[in-house]
Amino acid sequence: MNQAEAAKRIAELTALLLEYGRAYYDLDAPIVSDYEYDQYMQELRALEAEFPALLSPDSPSQKVQGHASSKFEKVTHTVQMASLQDVFSFEQVDAFLERIAKELPNPYFTVEPKIDGLSVSLEYANGVLVRGSTRGDGFVGENVTENLMTIASIPQKLSGTNLPPMLEVRGEVYMSREQFACLTAQQEAASEPTFRNPRNAAAGSLRQKDAAVTAKRGLDILVFNLQQIEGMTFTTHAQTMDTLAGFGLPMVPYNRYPADAAAIHAAILQIGEERETYPFDIDGVVIKVDDLSQREQLGMTAKYPKWAVAYKFPPEEKVTTLQDIEIQVGRTGVLTPVAVFDPIRLAGTSVSRATLHNQQFITEKDIRIGDRIRVRKAGEIIPEVLASESHAPDAVPYRIPERCPACGAPTEKDAEFAAVRCFNPACPAQVFRSIVHFASKAGMQIDGLGPAIVQQLLDNRLIASPADLYTLTQEQLLSLEGFQAKSAANLLQAIEHSKAQPLDRVIAALGIRNIGQSAAVLLCDRFGSMDAIRHATAEEMETIDGFGSIMAQSVVKAFASDSFATLITRLEALGVQMTYKQKTAVDTRFSNMTFVLTGTLPTMKRDDAKALIESFGGKVSGSVSKKTSVVVAGEEAGSKLTRAESLGIPIWDEAELLRQTQADSSNA
Ligand code: NAD
Repeated sequence: MNQAEAAKRIAELTALLLEYGRAYYDLDAPIVSDYEYDQYMQELRALEAEFPALLSPDSPSQKVQGHASSKFEKVTHTVQMASLQDVFSFEQVDAFLERIAKELPNPYFTVEPKIDGLSVSLEYANGVLVRGSTRGDGFVGENVTENLMTIASIPQKLSGTNLPPMLEVRGEVYMSREQFACLTAQQEAASEPTFRNPRNAAAGSLRQKDAAVTAKRGLDILVFNLQQIEGMTFTTHAQTMDTLAGFGLPMVPYNRYPADAAAIHAAILQIGEERETYPFDIDGVVIKVDDLSQREQLGMTAKYPKWAVAYKFPPEEKVTTLQDIEIQVGRTGVLTPVAVFDPIRLAGTSVSRATLHNQQFITEKDIRIGDRIRVRKAGEIIPEVLASESHAPDAVPYRIPERCPACGAPTEKDAEFAAVRCFNPACPAQVFRSIVHFASKAGMQIDGLGPAIVQQLLDNRLIASPADLYTLTQEQLLSLEGFQAKSAANLLQAIEHSKAQPLDRVIAALGIRNIGQSAAVLLCDRFGSMDAIRHATAEEMETIDGFGSIMAQSVVKAFASDSFATLITRLEALGVQMTYKQKTAVDTRFSNMTFVLTGTLPTMKRDDAKALIESFGGKVSGSVSKKTSVVVAGEEAGSKLTRAESLGIPIWDEAELLRQTQADSSNA
């Protein structure tokens, strides 16, 4: 890779990591798994190491991402709340140990589990908890004192008689796996959105405006560092941990070792083996220099201390027995083989199923029922079958059945895709999945109508197609188990509201193959109504920019089917939106312009400013480069502003941004 290619890839990775980081830290709703995030970060670090000239101080590899939300009062940390440098192999652990051993005489290390939660600081005055805050960007965090006070394991008063006048500790707030399972069950029962994992549940529960919500979430804490203390001195981290335990603070367990790679590897492996027995998730092991003056000597980078590393566990693999291969019939009739195996615990959860994709995958790996199979799962990544380790003596090669297991219709190899399909439109499995899709977030967004209720409605013969949802009555719902007057009324109201969904959603909800919402918008923009789309030819559709011939063929084929045409006619008769309200002419005064937002704007939230810029066709990027057109800066703008100034990039404040967007487009 040459420098120009590297620069391009670095820009791409930076944008991705900033976007993922924002979703993870600021919104507590990650869009990719930690594993995937770590892979991108490693790739970025490797490129920056190979091309040091391309290393920007703003790179996500150099700074703690995340920032204090304006929802909370801000707290400036006296002692920085840094991140940790990740390592992924024992070789990298050894390189760290060797580096330290070279610089320091006879160093000792502590080895501790790395709790997967969110970092907080707790400040005590004369033994009384006076303030608690989140990490934010490491320098400025959020004041969440009230919320932290609701956590039972955080002592509001320290124990002992010889308490320091001032003490600040750092710990990890987490949600136990058991509590997470409970919360998820409650949220599912109330048809509320659930958290993706205990870490996000902990972050989302602590960063609440209403402390009463936090109080109900059963959070916990483990403390792992002394940030500052008055009136006492220590020489080692281990001493501080023991003293803090004596004050009644719940401490992360630790062990202490000399710079002996074998002993430290063994300690890491032991924590890896024990992790399943912990009540909480861990995502690695932290190895820290124990001597506090040696830590000072080693110092910090802007992002992490040079005296510690976090060893991240590799994706976990286990061998189990394949009990069966089940066939799932999808919405479009594709038969997907699913491995059903003896349950194993992987990356903190119990797994017993994994997709086997298609016949080709099974044949290539020669996977047979009864085999010992190797399964892998990393963090939230979907488990995958890696290989067959051995066949049972009587095992025979597996073939996807020639008849659909849901309706018995003969299956056929799909000419378009390497899949086997059931072409019977009345196949109950397809009907179920298409109604679930119709009601889902990707379709008509009918709140409270999930797979279980769709199945219940089908089993009781109250519906047989998406159109039947619009004929359901209160009496019918009340005849079903689990429905009360209120839940029935809520569901009927959600169904009624969905009639007004815009036409692009209606089309996406219909589940035409290859037509998701963005393709639906293209169709609506061009044709304006369901009727016009129905009568359009494939050639006409192909003239739309971004609409290929496979998509056009799919639409024409869907409308050619009698059952589809009948469904549309019924939906129309029942009052579902069939015309498209064209958006008014778009003002693209910011097209081809890239904006960077930095600091806190006086009145607008960052998301709103971003949306405003995007509504005028502008792009918003996370880092300043020569290509940046404008930097919009607010209070406490940091290095981005300095960089913009040095590159001579125009700088606007919020008022200027508003002026530019409100001005007549001809003179903007
Ligand atoms: P980090 O979470 O990897 O490590 C630092 C944190 O570890 C500290 O803030 C501390 O609170 C915590 N910690 C827990 N136990 C500890 C102990 N015993 N000693 C010291 N610290 C301990 O660092 P980060 O920079 O906050 O986040 C990076 C990680 O977060 C990534 O590696 C990735 O896995 C995850 N992440 C995921 C996404 C995503 O989209 N999925 C996005 C951003 C970050």
